[in-house]
Amino acid sequence: MNLILLGPPGAGKGTQAQLLKDRRGLVQLSTGDMLRAAVASGSELGKTVKSIMASGGLVPDETMINLIADRIAQPDCAKGFILDGFPRTTRQAEALDAMLAAKGLKLDGVIELKVDDAALVERISGRYSCAKCGAGYHDSYKKPKKAGICDSCGAEQFTRREDDKAEVVASRLEAYHRQTAPLLPYYKARGVLRTVDGMAGIDEVQGQIEKVLAGA
Ligand code: AMP
Repeated sequence: MNLILLGPPGAGKGTQAQLLKDRRGLVQLSTGDMLRAAVASGSELGKTVKSIMASGGLVPDETMINLIADRIAQPDCAKGFILDGFPRTTRQAEALDAMLAAKGLKLDGVIELKVDDAALVERISGRYSCAKCGAGYHDSYKKPKKAGICDSCGAEQFTRREDDKAEVVASRLEAYHRQTAPLLPYYKARGVLRTVDGMAGIDEVQGQIEKVLAGA
């Protein structure tokens, strides 16, 4: 099964992709995570994208298309994948269609997580993750079971994303509405778009996604 999770920053794509990955044994392809790893490693790619990410803008299409093409070609993706953060432009969506067609693969669904802009700012400003394993948390919605200790790996260090600062979030939302939202009619026209209420709690959204997939 090959899926896309679509929605603005803070809609819960990463959280739901992680849950889907665990439940269905799919590979999670988060382009944001890939780029952050590149920045942390100091690679050429990382140096190129660092300032773009810090400003809240989008990395050029060709860079992203090459990154995903290489990743999808790896053997673990044959069991199915969840794209989280890609595609983000019509050009990327068209390139993905061509990549999948060349491999004889299809998209089983594009799941939109629909959330109001006002809620996104609050969601984003409260989120943080484990510095060691990357598990995601939130000041209000998903605290570690034991305060200050990661549920997944027991580490005690946490980090907040640089681009989760309020001034950058505004640019990221603007990029979403201008460049990514046109993908909603793009996938609707292809009959693969399913919308769930991303304003609901994590478990409720998870249930809605399972319902949608049962009918896919
Ligand atoms: P995310 O973790 O998905 O919010 O992505 C963080 C940042 O990485 C974005 O604000 C962009 O600068 C960059 N990025 C991630 N995925 C893409 C993509 N598919 N196209 C362009 N830029 C991307």
